[in-house]
Amino acid sequence: MKTIKRVSTIQKHLDAEREKAHSIGFVPTMGALHEGHLSLVSKAREENDRVVVSIFVNPTQFNQKEDLVKYPRQLEKDQDFIRKHSDYLFAPSVSQMYPKKLDTSVDLDIDHLTASMEGPNRPGHFEGVVQVLYRFLDILNPDTIYMGQKDFQQFSIVDYMLKTLNMDTAMRVCPTKREKDGLAMSSRNLRLEPTIRARADIIYKALVYAKENLGNKSCRAIEKKALDMMQISDFRPEYFEIVDGYTMARVTNPQHHELIAACTACWAGEVRLIDNMVLKGESRLYPDADKEFPVK
Ligand code: AMP
Repeated sequence: MKTIKRVSTIQKHLDAEREKAHSIGFVPTMGALHEGHLSLVSKAREENDRVVVSIFVNPTQFNQKEDLVKYPRQLEKDQDFIRKHSDYLFAPSVSQMYPKKLDTSVDLDIDHLTASMEGPNRPGHFEGVVQVLYRFLDILNPDTIYMGQKDFQQFSIVDYMLKTLNMDTAMRVCPTKREKDGLAMSSRNLRLEPTIRARADIIYKALVYAKENLGNKSCRAIEKKALDMMQISDFRPEYFEIVDGYTMARVTNPQHHELIAACTACWAGEVRLIDNMVLKGESRLYPDADKEFPVK
């Protein structure tokens, strides 16, 4: 695996790959890699001749400076973790990604997809995500980008960007990798205190409750009960919403929707965790049906 920090260098390598008709799979990350990231890289490896993983802690998607400063950075450890699985690790600096003279803004209205859930809670976050991914796709021009279902609203917005801007890259969503008790893997889990970590499966349990009750109870009643379930000591749920998987709009009658997800954000002590579960229409995300959840 080659680690590359300059835009012009990775472009030179990928141009050469394309000359040989090699397909390119791309996995964007912010580093502190874990098995969840690795599942995306493995899928990319399976489906492409070459794999590029990026590690870039994108400042424009952080609405809180402290969060950006605290974000774990461990390039050498990450390199070792994926060395055998990826061909290129692209780890650019901020000035490589956003040179002063280059206008990297993206003219794309995503307001309708950011009006709920992570949108209001993290102003400017998704605009930053769109900006960084547009820039990455412009630099790398991959055949396929691999995104995790873990960030449901994020992959929906990226899908919208690819389609609306008629971009050449296809997108693949990969299932959420979970710990044995159901907690979604995340770089942030390391920051959970042991006593809080021991109870963090409540988030998964609330999602499973929603899945089991869709159609039996009203969506609002399910949301309320799920929020109640997560109101345990040290836990503070921010939202739990049953939404249409394409529009992110609240669902009232499940029969009127093809793809439905329950999405939640919950503070576990000082750590904000997000998770989701598809309640209906999973085959729309995973036509190959190689999904790996629920774990119980
Ligand atoms: P991040 O480094 O948090 O920006 O995540 C990079 C990519 O990995 C995103 O597409 C995430 O959705 C995905 N990802 C993060 N955690 C998981 C997980 N537990 N399972 C599968 N994919 C994940």
